[in-house]
Amino acid sequence: MKLETKAVHGGNQVSDPTKPVIQPITLSSTFGHQEDSMVYSRLDNPNRKSLENVMSALENGADAAAFSSGNAAANAVFQALPADAHIIAPDDMYHGLKTLLLNVFKHKIAVDFVDLTKPESVAAAIRTNTRLLWIETPSNPLLKISDIQTLSGLAKENGIMVACDSTFASPVFQQPISLGADLVMHSNTKYIGGHSDIIGGILITKEQNSFWQQIRDVQALGGAVPSPFDTYFLCRSIKTLPYRMQAHAANAAKIAEYLNGHQSVEKVYYPGLTEHEGHRIASSQMQGFGGMLSFVIKGTADDADKFIDKLRYFTNATSLGGVESLIERRSRVQGVTPGIPEQLIRMSVGIENIGDLLEDLEQGLSGF
Ligand SMILES: *Cc1c(COP(=O)(O)O)cnc(C)c1O
Repeated sequence: MKLETKAVHGGNQVSDPTKPVIQPITLSSTFGHQEDSMVYSRLDNPNRKSLENVMSALENGADAAAFSSGNAAANAVFQALPADAHIIAPDDMYHGLKTLLLNVFKHKIAVDFVDLTKPESVAAAIRTNTRLLWIETPSNPLLKISDIQTLSGLAKENGIMVACDSTFASPVFQQPISLGADLVMHSNTKYIGGHSDIIGGILITKEQNSFWQQIRDVQALGGAVPSPFDTYFLCRSIKTLPYRMQAHAANAAKIAEYLNGHQSVEKVYYPGLTEHEGHRIASSQMQGFGGMLSFVIKGTADDADKFIDKLRYFTNATSLGGVESLIERRSRVQGVTPGIPEQLIRMSVGIENIGDLLEDLEQGLSGF
């Protein structure tokens, strides 16, 4: 099966003798005892199973485990690690996960936050107890690109597991397992859900090994599992994911080009632009450049806020991956961060008509 076919059929297992075309929502918390049946919905549920099956298929994995949020999925990886583990994570790691490691796991896990675009810095950070290299690419909010294949090779030489937060790419544009990663993580809240109405997360594994069993235990016993409603709607969303991603990327490419040529714009961060630092690697490891971009306007943080307020089709809100365009001045959300200009604006480009979006940006930027 090719990508689009997997997306439509991979999450629709039905074993109902009345033959509904669409798998129903199984709300039952418990199941009648019999050989091979499911037992209890914290352990397994038909809708969750279908979501795990389709995501595993899209990522070329051996299995997947769904969670109630992206953070819960990542949390399961950190919980499954042995005590006194050391991990290497990106210096620009998704701020919610960076804070999780620093606050919740401070007594169990030592972390080095490293610039993953420099493999030599990663090599220098490896210790004897390094268990995990956590990659996030493209990264937030500068869309930095890390070389998954090179970093996985380096990790493998040192017996280190590799996990990749592939949320910004979606399985349509990047398959980290095929590039050497052991685990893939997605916030299903973003492109997978795609309509800004579900919080969810998932892990996909390259192989069913003892570490994966440990993660399954965290899922079943920790219990941060998604509901049948949420997993049903995620399966529904995934059917259109390949087409949504194409639309997000096509619109983002046009907006990046427009902003890049605008006199009021200082710099644009989009991996599809040839001058972007990660363009070469992105071209080789991704099948599209995605729908996220950031840019810096010529002016102050106040000017950036005024520009955002003038827009009609871009909602001033955090998060990403929905069909509707969102925009935000990033430091309002993650605080003032070294290396990120205060007036940097991050945009999640939606699938509205590109002419309308460009016209809106044009009127917003007029007067700056
Ligand atoms: C949103 C996000 C997360 C966290 O996911 P939640 O569903 O909000 O818990 C992790 N990584 C990235 C890159 C994200 O964008």
